[in-house]
Amino acid sequence: MDPSSSLTLAFAAFLLAGLAVKFWLSTRQVRHVARHRDAVPPAFTGTVSLAAHQKAADYTVAKSRVGLLETAFGAAVLLGWTLLGGVDALNRALVAWLGTGMTQQLALLACFAVISGLLDLPFTLYQTFVVEERFGFNKMTWKLWLADAVKGTAIGALVGLPIAALILWLMGAAGDLWWLWAWAVWMGFNLLLLVIYPTLIAPLFNKFKPLEDETLKARVTALMQRCGFAAKGLFVMDGSKRSAHANAYFTGFGAAKRVVFYDTLLSKLSPAEVDAVLAHELGHFKHKHIVKRIVALFALSLAGFALLGWLASRAWFYTGLGVQPNLAGPNDALALLLFMLAVPVFTYFISPLMARFSRKHEFEADAFAARQTSGSDLGRALLKLYEDNASTLTPDPVFVKFYYSHPPASERLARLGAPA
Ligand SMILES: [Zn+2]
Repeated sequence: MDPSSSLTLAFAAFLLAGLAVKFWLSTRQVRHVARHRDAVPPAFTGTVSLAAHQKAADYTVAKSRVGLLETAFGAAVLLGWTLLGGVDALNRALVAWLGTGMTQQLALLACFAVISGLLDLPFTLYQTFVVEERFGFNKMTWKLWLADAVKGTAIGALVGLPIAALILWLMGAAGDLWWLWAWAVWMGFNLLLLVIYPTLIAPLFNKFKPLEDETLKARVTALMQRCGFAAKGLFVMDGSKRSAHANAYFTGFGAAKRVVFYDTLLSKLSPAEVDAVLAHELGHFKHKHIVKRIVALFALSLAGFALLGWLASRAWFYTGLGVQPNLAGPNDALALLLFMLAVPVFTYFISPLMARFSRKHEFEADAFAARQTSGSDLGRALLKLYEDNASTLTPDPVFVKFYYSHPPASERLARLGAPA
């Protein structure tokens, strides 16, 4: 078989297999949660009410149902873009209109992004205004949603188009080793984002106020000093503007490093529990999880760019994915686009590996928090967060292995030795 047909066949086979596994996992999860809906698991009978347990079950099932529909639709759209000729048709139309060159290539990427966004829109809207709304989590108004969409698109264009233009230019002008240059630019861009996202972009969507509660500030400052962190950049974010879900995170590096508490988190946890949650976040830093993640990203992207560098000059890479390459002009945007569409289909099956690393990191951060603060405070905080986010206490074990970036509540509390 020629390479083009082999690629078509492999792509179709992986897409179908991925779809089958996703359906199987989701069905398992829904069945498992529904089967355990009637009783709070024994370890939680004293701390979680039956009503909260059932709300979590219903929420999980509702989200899984929409997720399944979205997965099926997404696979159909992907097939439409590739083997059924969507990218090819869009590319031809743009070449007929703009000729070949940089403008056409940028237009191809931009049109693809806009069309994909529009196709996904019904699901995003349903998720926010129906599912989240039904369970009392959505705080977003239509007006706010629209403002977010406009701002998000504008920022996407403002940040995305220049970096895309730079990479496309390198692909055309930097010779055989273009992929090495493009990789360096891409990594620089990612590091830059780590600095400008918390300081310039996030404030366009939310208000960040310095933490003012003096008692809490004193506690948090003491904890940070104990763990060897400069206690600056403590912020409270108005997360309640969009959703009742609570969270805290640590972001950026260097001077842009900051700790962000959602106002929804501060309103639900006691100071000792906030401390424990922060200690967990500090644990990620102490164990160098952030650095490890960045290094992994560097290595994986290098492999990705090297592969793309090789694929971009093979005609079968295009024809195998349903596209006739341009004979008279550059095919760099086509190569980027097809690569971004095809790679996730093949890498889906390593997601359990990624999830496993992530869960291991969460356990390490929990253990750090338990040493620095108290395991029972962290346990109580986690339980409140799981309950407030309506995370099910009884997920399907196989589903967890595949997807869960955070271990289920039962495992985390058991390791903390906290009375659940
Ligand atoms: Zn964590």
